[in-house]
Amino acid sequence: MRILIVEDEHRIAQALKEGLEQESYAVDACYDGEDGYNTASADEHDLIILDVMLPNMDGFEISKKLRAGGNHTPILMLTAKDQNHDIVHGLDTGADDYLPKPFSFEVLLARVRALLRRPHESLGEILEADDLTLNTKTHEVKRSGKTIKLSSKEYALLEYMLRNKNNVLSKNNIMTHVWDFDADILPNTVEVFITFLRNKIDKPFKKPGLIQTERGFGYKIGESSS
Ligand code: CA
Repeated sequence: MRILIVEDEHRIAQALKEGLEQESYAVDACYDGEDGYNTASADEHDLIILDVMLPNMDGFEISKKLRAGGNHTPILMLTAKDQNHDIVHGLDTGADDYLPKPFSFEVLLARVRALLRRPHESLGEILEADDLTLNTKTHEVKRSGKTIKLSSKEYALLEYMLRNKNNVLSKNNIMTHVWDFDADILPNTVEVFITFLRNKIDKPFKKPGLIQTERGFGYKIGESSS
């Protein structure tokens, strides 16, 4: 899942980016309000972490403009401590949740996970397809009760596919949501990672594969087909 951070304090932005990348998210960072608004409008993200006090355009205005333009990406707003006015204003302008500064990274992660959950997803932390499960909190992946070790990108790819279970995802979709803007991507990067993933979640299990190729369209994960 791909996250955009808009925060002018480089130290905070950098720490968040590194922390989130360790959790397998693809992360873009902007340090200025206008740049943040332009990036949010131009690229697809699954979540925006938005500071309130920003040069050129503040967080409220960004949120308001994005919503007015039909962008419904979940927004987590970073507000100043004890500023109830900020919180109310933030939620009114279209933010989905807020976090007063300073915050603990653990709490931020929990909010991020909650916001990335689709509204009708009652399962919470566990995503699944057939006998495969992925725990978004512990990052544990299992099939038929057996633990599977994945690299960070393999995990990110699997998480994205499971969140869109039974939908065909184009290579472009996958690239946009699993890799960040600065990533080195070759034309066959997605294929290569799909192969890595199949070798770990499908091949060893002598069962019909969970990852299916839809020729000319892309890939999907679903209940296994024979
Ligand atoms: Ca700021």
